[in-house]
Amino acid sequence: MPSYLGVDVGGTKVAVAAVEAGEARHLTEHPTVLDSTEALLEGIENAVCEVVARAGEPEAIGIGVPSQVEWATGTVLASVNIPLAGVPLREELSRRFGVPVFVDNDASCAALAEAHELDACDLVMLTLGTGVGGGIVAGGHVFRGADGLGGELGHVVVEADGPPCFGTCPNRGCLEALCSGSAIERAAGRPGREVVEAARAGDAEAQGHFDRLGRYLGIGISNMVNAFQPEFVVIGGGLSAAADLFLETARTEAASRALPALWERTTVQPAKGGNQAGVVGAGLLALQEHSRAGDTPSSSPT
Ligand SMILES: [Zn+2]
Repeated sequence: MPSYLGVDVGGTKVAVAAVEAGEARHLTEHPTVLDSTEALLEGIENAVCEVVARAGEPEAIGIGVPSQVEWATGTVLASVNIPLAGVPLREELSRRFGVPVFVDNDASCAALAEAHELDACDLVMLTLGTGVGGGIVAGGHVFRGADGLGGELGHVVVEADGPPCFGTCPNRGCLEALCSGSAIERAAGRPGREVVEAARAGDAEAQGHFDRLGRYLGIGISNMVNAFQPEFVVIGGGLSAAADLFLETARTEAASRALPALWERTTVQPAKGGNQAGVVGAGLLALQEHSRAGDTPSSSPT
């Protein structure tokens, strides 16, 4: 049985596993080395070699990075938290490993894992963490736009005159500006974890922040439903652990806004994949894209 490797490069750890039938095997995790690009690549190489030693040589390797990636070349165009900006990651790693390598945004990989888990062909994933990430699976494949930069669902506007967004986004009132961990911290003036605890303990002000988050998330979800008619909208990321504080509000809001015929066919739920969604999704990416590439010369991507 051909094996595929998934690599999930996060801001704190690099996870690598052989992915078979949507399951991670021989999983290894190492702290992400952020000192330099070369050190980071070496760390990835070592982790991959460790899994290859146990699982055997893979057919192809999929890599998810928290970055903007030009899909055709696998070049990282922008990367906030890890030193990969400008790095031709696909070329660099396929040279090191001698097998085809496919590079994508981590949120797209996670969305693929969720779609596999739910046996869905059309799915939208929103990851609520420090920022808001988005992944779209349409017709069974990742939707990326012309160059691979599309699917930035965190920057869909849900409040025209809302608060300014974060990072390099010039917009206001994006999902990220209203529904991220950073947005909660900015609004509450204290760490997100504390706001969650306070809301659970019945603090009305803290609950108000999550009501507001839920309402704006619901507006965003209604836009996703109307645009993509997904079978599922799944909510992942660190903040989804507090979904009990806002998901019902989001559903109610989305239900009142999405076109009824579409809404009736959509399920909104927390993501299932947990910590391994990234690495499993990266492995599924390798499987899918390698199969899709067929007998084209993808073994030596240039
Ligand atoms: Zn934005």
